[in-house]
Amino acid sequence: MAGTAPQELINMTRQLGQPHLNLVIIGEGNTSSRVDSHTFWIKASGRGMQEIGDSGFVEIYFEGVLDLLDSDLSGAALQEAMMAARVDPNGARPSVEVTFHSMLLQGCDVNYIGHTHPLAVNQLLCSTRAEQFARNRLFPDEVVLCGPESVFVPYVDPGLPLAQAIRAQVKRYMDDYGEAPKVILMQNHGLIVLGQSPTEILNVTAMCVKAAGIFAGACAVGGPVFMSKADVLHIYRRPDEIYRRKLFVG
Ligand SMILES: [Zn+2]
Repeated sequence: MAGTAPQELINMTRQLGQPHLNLVIIGEGNTSSRVDSHTFWIKASGRGMQEIGDSGFVEIYFEGVLDLLDSDLSGAALQEAMMAARVDPNGARPSVEVTFHSMLLQGCDVNYIGHTHPLAVNQLLCSTRAEQFARNRLFPDEVVLCGPESVFVPYVDPGLPLAQAIRAQVKRYMDDYGEAPKVILMQNHGLIVLGQSPTEILNVTAMCVKAAGIFAGACAVGGPVFMSKADVLHIYRRPDEIYRRKLFVG
């Protein structure tokens, strides 16, 4: 049965699409939110985020998409399988990144995903310093909001190969830290933020953009000085910082 996209998802997507933020232009980026353990809403393919409305989203069954992650489908067969996963057979075509959204919403047990191509972040992800930016932290509030490290995913073709590469790197992160990441950085591509609320998606995106600007500035004045791993983990686990993080999640 055809439903309507959640207003919280529409509002979050519009906010990420505000031109002055320089996160996306034209049809770039995509967002999603979980309904329950069976379905989620995702932005339809090619829609601009700035003025998106209910018709810019499509509801998808997790099951139909998660199965694709272990397949080697491509081209028309893959497109057909993604269209078959729609709850409403007359719904719009989902974003080509529907596979990584479904995998992260389920595998990381989060309610919202925000994927953008921020100018400040992508200038690093398109540089030789991409992985260095992902794996290190520069200041305490970056640790509090973005986590002790970001997942770094070397460049692969968008769609199923990218979803499979993200899955492998997220698994490594979860094995290391015992919890899901907040931020995934895709080389030559962009940013994925995972969160429990629209507020968390917006706040973590903003902090990642700020960290990228600071990193680029630090590189320009002699090179970044990173926090030690011990200091990063100390901040991340401090009770007062955990309290602040909860406030930022909303
Ligand atoms: Zn993208």
